[in-house]
Amino acid sequence: MLHDDRIWSVREIESAEELARLLTEATWCCCQAFSVQGYQQYVWVNDSTTPDRLQEYGILKWNCSDGKIMQIESITFSWCNFDQALQFIQMTLSGKDDNNSFACEVVSTLQTPLEHGKCQHCA
Ligand SMILES: [Zn+2]
Repeated sequence: MLHDDRIWSVREIESAEELARLLTEATWCCCQAFSVQGYQQYVWVNDSTTPDRLQEYGILKWNCSDGKIMQIESITFSWCNFDQALQFIQMTLSGKDDNNSFACEVVSTLQTPLEHGKCQHCA
């Protein structure tokens, strides 16, 4: 379940490969989110309960016509190797997760790293 009281700092990543590497090789603080250059409508937000637990990510899709944000997928990247992570990311970027039946509208606050500064999770 998405932490709806959390404010995420979205970092833009150059490619799906780089994102797969970052999500499988590193542990991120609970307010970290990522998007891939050219696909800013998709955002991977860290939905882990604590930074030292399994790294779970909610995948959000932002609809630029009505401003609504849908959660379309949820993935525990701690259980993925690089190839699996890359496959999941490419599926999302190609739009294959857009119509998942469990997708639901969420309220979430996304910021640029500059807007975000430091919060209790990353201080
Ligand atoms: Zn923070």
